[in-house]
Amino acid sequence: LIPFWTLGYLMVGGSCASVLQQGLNGVLWAYPAVFMFFFVLPRGLAMALGLVLLLSVTAASTVSLGLPLASRIFMSLGFVLIMINVVLNVVGDLQRALVAQAITDPLTGAYNRRHFEERQREELAYALRHQTDLSLIMLDIDHFKRVNDTWGHPAGDAVIRHVAQVTPAQLRSEDVFARYGGEEFVVLLRATDLKGAVRVAERIRSSIEALSARFEGRALPATVSGGCASLSEGGERSGAAWMRRADERLYRAKDSGRNRIVGGPRPGD
Ligand code: GH3
Ligand code: MG
Ligand code: MG
Repeated sequence: LIPFWTLGYLMVGGSCASVLQQGLNGVLWAYPAVFMFFFVLPRGLAMALGLVLLLSVTAASTVSLGLPLASRIFMSLGFVLIMINVVLNVVGDLQRALVAQAITDPLTGAYNRRHFEERQREELAYALRHQTDLSLIMLDIDHFKRVNDTWGHPAGDAVIRHVAQVTPAQLRSEDVFARYGGEEFVVLLRATDLKGAVRVAERIRSSIEALSARFEGRALPATVSGGCASLSEGGERSGAAWMRRADERLYRAKDSGRNRIVGGPRPGD
């Protein structure tokens, strides 16, 4: 197939020819041609073709219509080019804002579960293909219902936000941190083994224990329990078994007293 930009040059040539033949009526073809460029071509190429069209139509109109009319045509066609770019910038900004909204949890600003699951699928596929390790930390705030019941839901929200603020300070920029559900968070650690994940989880746990959330002048201490699992444990390297291990260890951390990290099989398993 002929690439469209060659057709674009034909349209430039056609517009100039019609300006030379039909005068002012021919100029009218230049306007839809500019829109057409931006609809079907990449932005940079459309802009380049648009400028070529602007200059050549202006030149053709100078010949057939004289300089005063040609300069008006130059200005109106140039204005159309500028406005197309303004509109495209606004649409682009809106689109970026929508994408950011779709992957963000509104309460905390952390990634949401949907984005986490997408990243998890990608990282899992990469780790399986390239035989690298991948670790998961599941965190759950301890006795969180008590915070809500004692101080109210807005105080509970402040605690959730606080945990989401403190945790990323302990992470690397390539780690994926997300709010998984109500008061549950997950961290995905690329190329990290179980020992490394436990070390990070322990750092998160102790930083949350050390810093209280504040709500309406009151300090609200909170602790978290965590379960860690790595893909390379056990040798089966399946995503489902890996998630189950982390979840089961989180429950073990809860059962054995909370405010702790469990990152290994039960003794005897
Ligand atoms: P455990 O130590 O066993 O985890 O006890 P818990 O009280 O934290 O556990 P449970 O799962 O029973 O309670 C979680 C509570 O979190 C229940 C729910 O009302 C509350 N919750 C869930 N989402 C939100 C939220 O967005 N804001 C607030 N304030 N509370 C929430
Ligand atoms: Mg929970
Ligand atoms: Mg909880």
